[in-house]
Amino acid sequence: MNILDQEHIRLTNRLKAELSVPRRIVVTTHQGPDGDGMGSSLAIYHFLKKQGHDVSVITPNDYPEFLHWMPSNAEVVNFMRQKPLAEALIEKAEYIFHMDYNHLRRSADMSHTLYQCKAIRILIDHHLVPELPSKYVFSKTDVSSTCELLFGIIKQWNAKLIDRVIATCLYTGIMTDTGSFCYRSVSPQTFSVAAELLKYGIDRSEIYDQVYDNYSENRMRLMGYCLNEKMEVFPQYAAALISLNLEEQKRYGFIVGDSEGFVNLPLSIKGIRFSALFLEKEDKVKMSFRSKGDFSVNDFAKKHYGGGGHLNAAGGDEKKPMNELIQQFRELLPLYEKELKAPPPAPPQREGETSALQMTKLAASWGQRVGKQAKMK
Ligand code: 5GP
Ligand code: MN
Repeated sequence: MNILDQEHIRLTNRLKAELSVPRRIVVTTHQGPDGDGMGSSLAIYHFLKKQGHDVSVITPNDYPEFLHWMPSNAEVVNFMRQKPLAEALIEKAEYIFHMDYNHLRRSADMSHTLYQCKAIRILIDHHLVPELPSKYVFSKTDVSSTCELLFGIIKQWNAKLIDRVIATCLYTGIMTDTGSFCYRSVSPQTFSVAAELLKYGIDRSEIYDQVYDNYSENRMRLMGYCLNEKMEVFPQYAAALISLNLEEQKRYGFIVGDSEGFVNLPLSIKGIRFSALFLEKEDKVKMSFRSKGDFSVNDFAKKHYGGGGHLNAAGGDEKKPMNELIQQFRELLPLYEKELKAPPPAPPQREGETSALQMTKLAASWGQRVGKQAKMK
């Protein structure tokens, strides 16, 4: 299994040589960190710590409580809450790792400090079009997650240092970024990496439990409210929208992470292939988009909201009023009618198997034959 191409192998070897003496290192990830952002950051943190480096993980802001169980979570510095400490660490850093993001903009209020610092940058990411100038660029868009790519890098770097803690962090990132190994981004390699990680003795069901079965009652009721009262379905465009304003969030005691996964819910309705979640924040509206099939929410988010992401999962934010944005979204849908209503790709067939279309044709011809036979009788 070759996760890395030749160029990335060369880069890893160079980086390994550069980091062969203890350095001051800061590891960062994107705002609103998710399982892949935290998983990759904490995995490289533990990997570098084991080599004697002085390492800090800094997040731009808060992240969901369902990630707080992760190893060394208590050591993570939050730029929004601990700005002087975070700034001092970034200023003193000799090396900065940018994990799971492709543009400094994605680090929100931390971007200015990151932009100004003189440290040597290492980008490790799987988003389309990396635009974060770095000495070491590990960018691969055909992997499921940054954690999948990072596994390849640290295995090349020093496989002997991988342990249960590092494997747990990596597995968490892969599991969360793939919807538990379901999304189209999952490849045979993803399963091979997961299988290798299992060999380090990680507790895969405990990880699942910590991430997905750890919500509050409030959050479950909020989900019910969203589905019952807030979900708008547009069958003619195979699309759906859920929005939550600040008052509704307050009513349900909303905390960071409570809307996690809501954007995926409408995709379980037959025929729905495009889903959006609009979440009002104090200073902006955060949008999440998901799709099935070839409809690119990355293009959609980029074009209309200056955001981005991947083919089937993207996001963006806007400072406009929520109602205006919702109305704009409704008005955009007819422009995409053709793309959204295109039939989903047929599932692959094994030789000798019959597709649905072939079945319809066969059934029609059987019908004709049966009709003819009935007439003959
Ligand atoms: P989520 O909807 O879970 O916040 O994000 C889905 C995907 O879109 C993630 O891969 C995330 O990195 C990306 N994404 C979310 N928000 C933004 C944004 O504002 N700008 C860009 N470029 N990507 C985003
Ligand atoms: Mn990711």
